[in-house]
Amino acid sequence: MNKIKLTVFWLARALGLFAACRRLTAAKVRILCYHGGCLGDESSYNPKLFCSSAMLAQRMQWLKRKGFTLVPLAEAAASARRPAAARSALTTAITFDDGWYSTASELVPVLGKLGIPSSLYLCTSHYLEGWAIPSVAVRYLIWKSGLQSVQLHGLGSADGSVELGTPAQRNAAANRIVAAIDASLPQRDTKHAMLEQLASCLKVPSSALALSTRRFEYMREAQLLALAEQGCTVELHGHVHLYPAGDPAAFEADLRQCSDTIVGAGLPRPTHYCYPSGNFDAAASPVLERLGVLTGTTCLPGLITQASATQSHYLPRFLDGESIAMLDFEAEMSGFSELLRKLLRKAHPLQPA
Ligand SMILES: [Zn+2]
Repeated sequence: MNKIKLTVFWLARALGLFAACRRLTAAKVRILCYHGGCLGDESSYNPKLFCSSAMLAQRMQWLKRKGFTLVPLAEAAASARRPAAARSALTTAITFDDGWYSTASELVPVLGKLGIPSSLYLCTSHYLEGWAIPSVAVRYLIWKSGLQSVQLHGLGSADGSVELGTPAQRNAAANRIVAAIDASLPQRDTKHAMLEQLASCLKVPSSALALSTRRFEYMREAQLLALAEQGCTVELHGHVHLYPAGDPAAFEADLRQCSDTIVGAGLPRPTHYCYPSGNFDAAASPVLERLGVLTGTTCLPGLITQASATQSHYLPRFLDGESIAMLDFEAEMSGFSELLRKLLRKAHPLQPA
């Protein structure tokens, strides 16, 4: 399927359709999303979550070459509310999710050097914790080991014989191990000792886990405050990395905590939000409105034609990463993929948008 898609894209580009789509959709606004950078082999393990600085630089240079106007998120949001005629060509904002240490050390500097503004949506609970994210580090270790089964010991409730032969077994094992780590003392030393113990059980050398590089951690206050110098503003990704669907009171409390933590670090009060894991519902907009949050971004791809105040709380955004081929990226940013999605929806009107 992917091969067919890329062949269609290749032909379309060769026929000048990408360039035509860029001209036709020049007034529409785009938002791009990245996550963490690479300090080792993270992009081989999870190419949606981690990308190399070289890949990001390639994307940015292409955008510049093709005449995209790279603006701060606030400007992109303001553009989307203006009439199409009053916008710059191919207005695009770059965003980063979560707050990985490697985002600050590897990715934001790429944009800084090119003079491209960006925004980071920070999940503040992980930022305050200051240890490797268990759900990511544990899955990395299982991937890295390649074992079909393992005998776990020294890991509390996760101890015992564990099968790792299928994706479902690996996922169940990861969830059990993460629960055991989550239940341990909330200290960096304790969490990291458990990850080292898991590495030992899985026969992955400590040097391959490389916790000291901070590859699975979030940035700390010093990196967060240094982002502004490179044109990166800090926005909201929730205090916990979970959108509480159907519970607006919990959503409001979570947003306030996230916002207060960012202000407490000495940064301006954030006014843009990104739904963790892309989950949202209709109850979000009134809460965002009440708290003075101007936009909310989803993980649904698309170009923004015009956004009312409410529509601004559900803006589409393209999740780029090492899992996306350069040709796929060009198709999306040119507006060709959006055209294909529209045609497919017309051909299959009962399919969800
Ligand atoms: Zn996230």
